[in-house]
Amino acid sequence: MRELLLLRYGEISLKGKNRRVFEKKLFRNIRKALVDIEETEVIDRHGRGYVEFNTEDYDEVVKVVSRVFGLVSMSKAIKVDNDFDAFCQIGKVEIERLKKEKGVKSFKIETRRSNKSFGMKSPDISSGIGAYILDHCEDIHVDVKHPDVILNYEIRENTYVFSERIPCKGGMPYGSAGKGMMLLSGGIDSPVAGYQMARRGVELEAVHFHSYPFTSERALEKVLDLGKILTHYTYNLRIYSVNILEIQKAINEKCPSEEMTILSRRFMMRIAERLALKSRCQCLITGENIGQVASQTMEGLTVTNASVDLPVLRPLLAYDKNDIIKVSKEIDTYETSILPFEDCCTVFLPDRVVTKPRLEKMVFSESKLDVDALIDEAIENMDVYYIDKGELIES
Ligand code: ATP
Ligand code: MG
Repeated sequence: MRELLLLRYGEISLKGKNRRVFEKKLFRNIRKALVDIEETEVIDRHGRGYVEFNTEDYDEVVKVVSRVFGLVSMSKAIKVDNDFDAFCQIGKVEIERLKKEKGVKSFKIETRRSNKSFGMKSPDISSGIGAYILDHCEDIHVDVKHPDVILNYEIRENTYVFSERIPCKGGMPYGSAGKGMMLLSGGIDSPVAGYQMARRGVELEAVHFHSYPFTSERALEKVLDLGKILTHYTYNLRIYSVNILEIQKAINEKCPSEEMTILSRRFMMRIAERLALKSRCQCLITGENIGQVASQTMEGLTVTNASVDLPVLRPLLAYDKNDIIKVSKEIDTYETSILPFEDCCTVFLPDRVVTKPRLEKMVFSESKLDVDALIDEAIENMDVYYIDKGELIES
């Protein structure tokens, strides 16, 4: 049997002349999300979308479509002809089903008629169907204020009947708002930061820094696993894996130990910016959060920013940790993020770190290093991974 989902867009509807551009992106993404489920059909009817699929795929279809950014909700609907008798028949069948499956005792009919050529007016249709149901079903009454269920009729080229709304993620279609390079550690924050930007339509690439062999191979595996989870939303993801051990050794040798964290961070930013410019990313994205740790003071962020020209976007800047954890659980990255494999931040970690770094001091310390050569070397030796819908296909 074939089933039908009726899709609802959020903010896209507010777009004026560009609306069609966003809709096309949205539908391309819905098709990408469904590509592995056979015999699904995605129908784009200017301003309204539908997915048709086989009954046995229901759970899977709902799971993947609900992750497509730009949709706010969807409903499993029944398609009937534009015929009042058909409305009554299906109303009766649906109310009987809802009584049995959900113990529904009261209902209300709501009609939306965007097809004005249908002869009756919406309130007359609703009350007509309601009266028919009351005549033909037992143990049920109408409650217009607090009904157990609202049975909706949307009259278009056909009529769609539905009663429940399945929430989706909202946001804007992935790929509709430029491109950013996210700095992806193995921690809790950065995958959430990437997700939040992707949800606003920003296409992602990722860079991860490690200090192998001081850090383990498991740390890389962990980051690739996080990348795989993110592709539930981004479909694919390129991850650059850059070893910064030589950089950290150089800092350790030539600069005050308490500057390790902030100087490493400035190198990470510069490398990320180089990669970003190469692949046409317009910003850097980090999981930084004001006040969370020493390097994330206002002064720390300022000194970090000063190492690059691209804007650094920090979507989690004002989140509380609990809220970040909540999102990471919702998007399924939490369990992976808390695995105990350390990324490079903890190598050479001093007892004391500067919490209010001054730019002049950092620039002075860096004057003792061959910054460009160190960066070139790190980039030359990097590995590149490509993940396509949860699968690593190149390394
Ligand atoms: P996270 O949970 O994302 O690791 P955090 O709270 O541990 O963040 P930091 O370790 O100070 O904070 O890192 C702040 C941000 O810097 C991270 O969110 C990430 O964007 C970037 N970053 C830190 N370490 C790395 C790394 N090894 N590779 C890539 N990006 C990193
Ligand atoms: Mg971290």
